[in-house]
Amino acid sequence: MNASPHTARRSQHASTQRGGRTVPAIARLLVMAAAILCLATLWLLHRAITTPETVDLAATEWNLVLVNKDHALPFGFSVDTVEMPGGEHVDARIADSLSALLEDAETAGFHPFIRSGFRTREQQGEILDQRIEEYEAEGYPSSAARKEALSWVAEPGTSEHELGLAVDINDAYGDDGLYDWLRDNAPAYGFIQRYPPDKSDITHISHEPWHYRYVGTKAAAIIYRNNLTLEEYLAQTP
Ligand SMILES: [Zn+2]
Repeated sequence: MNASPHTARRSQHASTQRGGRTVPAIARLLVMAAAILCLATLWLLHRAITTPETVDLAATEWNLVLVNKDHALPFGFSVDTVEMPGGEHVDARIADSLSALLEDAETAGFHPFIRSGFRTREQQGEILDQRIEEYEAEGYPSSAARKEALSWVAEPGTSEHELGLAVDINDAYGDDGLYDWLRDNAPAYGFIQRYPPDKSDITHISHEPWHYRYVGTKAAAIIYRNNLTLEEYLAQTP
């Protein structure tokens, strides 16, 4: 015969008491400790997966250093920069190639200017924060705003702009034809379109037709000819 709900409740109550009051308390503590341990392990795993490794600058040619969401510049990274026309700075070693590229773009009928060049880690952080705020102002919840912002702006330490080898080039008159011209001509000067269309699953950055990265003429020619990203090029270059 089934026990009435009342009887069942009573017998349950009786069994808790039979073990004494301290056992459930210890059990609860053990469950809490296990939960905390699980959370701590998950957090450590998450950190291990999402924390970029620090780039070993001595192990790579300066022009081929890979900086992306998985490869961060070391804290305190510095580089000798020079000021370009318009006021932006770049790694001094690429200034001549960049000047030649911009002059030839002008000869081709465009009005290129460097919207953004070298940035410090702090400046990169400010740009990211600003972009997150813009998305939040549009109504995105804060986690979604951060995710959306990160598809355009890299985390501080993981932007090529901090390397001094990347520039955002736009046309002063808004002529988007400049982007096509750059894509096909910049490699001859050692620059590649770093975030091409259909490659954001590899670069983790949306298509940015204005962002150019200096890699040197040899690598740029191979990357352009074979439609590679810098990630793909480095993976297949011993
Ligand atoms: Zn850029």
